[in-house]
Amino acid sequence: MAKESCDIAIIGGALSGAATAWHLARLGFDGHIALFERDKGFSRAATALSASGIRQQFSRAENIALSMRTLDFLRNASERFGTETDIGLRENGYLLLASEAGRETLAANHAIQKQCGADVALLDPAGLKERFSWLETDGVAAGSLGLANEGWFDAMALLAGFRRGLREDGRVSMLQGEVVGIDADKGMASGLRLADGTQWNCGAIVIAAGPSSGAIARLAGVDLPTEPRKRSVFFFQAMDRFADMPLTVDPSGLYVRPEGDGYITGVSPAPEEDGPADPEDFDPDWHLFEERIWPLLAARIRAFEAIKLQSAWAGHYDYNPFDRNALIGPMSGLDRLFAITGFSGHGVQQAPAAGEALAEWILFGEYRSTDCTAFSPDRVAAGAPFAERNII
Ligand SMILES: Cc1cc2nc3c(=O)[nH]c(=O)nc-3n(C[C@H](O)[C@H](O)[C@H](O)COP(=O)(O)OP(=O)(O)OC[C@H]3O[C@@H](n4cnc5c(N)ncnc54)[C@H](O)[C@@H]3O)c2cc1C
Repeated sequence: MAKESCDIAIIGGALSGAATAWHLARLGFDGHIALFERDKGFSRAATALSASGIRQQFSRAENIALSMRTLDFLRNASERFGTETDIGLRENGYLLLASEAGRETLAANHAIQKQCGADVALLDPAGLKERFSWLETDGVAAGSLGLANEGWFDAMALLAGFRRGLREDGRVSMLQGEVVGIDADKGMASGLRLADGTQWNCGAIVIAAGPSSGAIARLAGVDLPTEPRKRSVFFFQAMDRFADMPLTVDPSGLYVRPEGDGYITGVSPAPEEDGPADPEDFDPDWHLFEERIWPLLAARIRAFEAIKLQSAWAGHYDYNPFDRNALIGPMSGLDRLFAITGFSGHGVQQAPAAGEALAEWILFGEYRSTDCTAFSPDRVAAGAPFAERNII
């Protein structure tokens, strides 16, 4: 079979891959980009199964910068895509609650956020109660409220915008196929193979395969700490509608926010239950709702003592067990191999800006919009974690 060829191959056509391709084209790359995606309907992509929140409340200035850059993109999506695109941005904010034990960390994070220009207020229990009468403040020592620039959006509408732009541009081939092999020549990524036997020569390869990114890197003989971690999301309805509710995070880690005519909620599994997921397992962990979520919800918001659980789904975080932060940039171990992955639960809000930054690095050899040096995969081999404290 004759080999096809491209200048840049991108493995994974959801938000990370599509954003990188879109920005490469926008920045004037005139070679041939091939975007490979195995799942036609994105039914298992983290992008499709996400809670789609965007926040400024991180513990790292670099994470705040990425999310701020994406927010700017979201606000101007129609202009950027040159067409009417409704990405459903709802800026209700995030409310992070801390117990006495977590108060100091909340305050330290708040100081970093303020330095970065985030519009975030620290509230005591009385202030919280005054602002949100539906909230019980037992066990809460302080709350951090994003007054602007935070909320949620429709990640699939954003993905559709990128992919429509790519189709119209015409310089990017959007291909259906599963990558099953990566070839190297003289220490450089040189090609890839698809499940149907097709072979490609590639000038460079970008790994944007979400929770499968670690497995893809292993095809190239390179270590990239990204694995699937299952997270379940539950949709319920209640008598009361709190339209002003921010995405509220309990000190236990439980989150809840309005969605359509109800609410969505979830909590990470206990550390002893959390670990690499079976990539085929998308069954929601129903027991979490009964055992942990509902009791926590009812205690924090009395109106949620009587609720109707309507549905649930599960998706996989592209989880970086090394330091729970994104892995962006060139990979050591193989030249011309790049990564954009490992977002550990904050990827839909960071992939658009990270894709822009990675496109700059590939084209110009430097970051111009957002400095992603701190996210370099090199830190793994160097044993130098760049940890994020605020993981939801
Ligand atoms: C339940 C849940 C809630 C979340 N909530 C939030 C949130 O509130 N805010 C936030 O910012 N982030 C959130 N995230 C994280 C976010 O969804 C991800 O970080 C982000 O979507 C990653 O995008 P991606 O394009 O890198 O990966 P994905 O969306 O997973 O896309 C990777 C693509 O690669 C394709 N692929 C994989 N292997 C191959 C192969 N061998 N060949 C070809 N194609 C391949 C897959 O089919 C897939 O379409 C959440 C995630 C989950 C699961």
